[in-house]
Amino acid sequence: MSITGSMGLDLVGGGLQVVVATHNPHKVEELARILGPLLPGVELLPYDGPEPVEDGETFEANALIKARAAHAHSGLPALADDSGIEVDALGGEPGIRSARYAGTRDDTDNLELLLANLGSSADRAARFVCAAAWVDADGELAVRGEWQGEVADAPRGEGGFGYDPIFVPHDGGGRAAAELSPEDKDALSHRRIAFTALAERIQQG
Ligand code: IMP
Repeated sequence: MSITGSMGLDLVGGGLQVVVATHNPHKVEELARILGPLLPGVELLPYDGPEPVEDGETFEANALIKARAAHAHSGLPALADDSGIEVDALGGEPGIRSARYAGTRDDTDNLELLLANLGSSADRAARFVCAAAWVDADGELAVRGEWQGEVADAPRGEGGFGYDPIFVPHDGGGRAAAELSPEDKDALSHRRIAFTALAERIQQG
């Protein structure tokens, strides 16, 4: 596959090194599985520089902050994402605060607090959101992917991470995200949607 665009990218033949600005090993694994087929020949390198302050007010702003930091530190094109869960009945919370919702950065604490705050609400509509950002010497892009679903009454499944045990996507056959195989989750997820859209935007130029 050839991906070229106004950003001067030419991924034909490989050899392009791209830094991935995330320290979350689950997300590095997911991104490598998703991006491998989308960007063949690209070598993904982990970002090992200082973590920037993520003080943006949107997923897109925070993804761009991370990608800019990785590009500035490495001099290489950089990819980043910022993600979380939005719950309608909680006014969109926890949103960009998803990772630190309960104040402990513990996945179980976070999802238990979300279930407690939602209580027995009949409105359980929610979505996983991912903003994917690209920054290189020629410019920057950010796109959003949303995976629609419902909050379960109780945690289910052993897979995934974060809020996966309490998120039941509309297109997952009634299973919680933590009950999907990694391959099934990759095919449907907010990260899949966002990074596919990002690759298309780069192709379009
Ligand atoms: P980030 O690392 O700043 O993007 O924060 C993402 C947080 O949102 C994670 O710590 C999880 O709590 C949640 N999150 C994002 N993506 C997923 C997912 O695919 N499954 C479950 N939780 C997720």
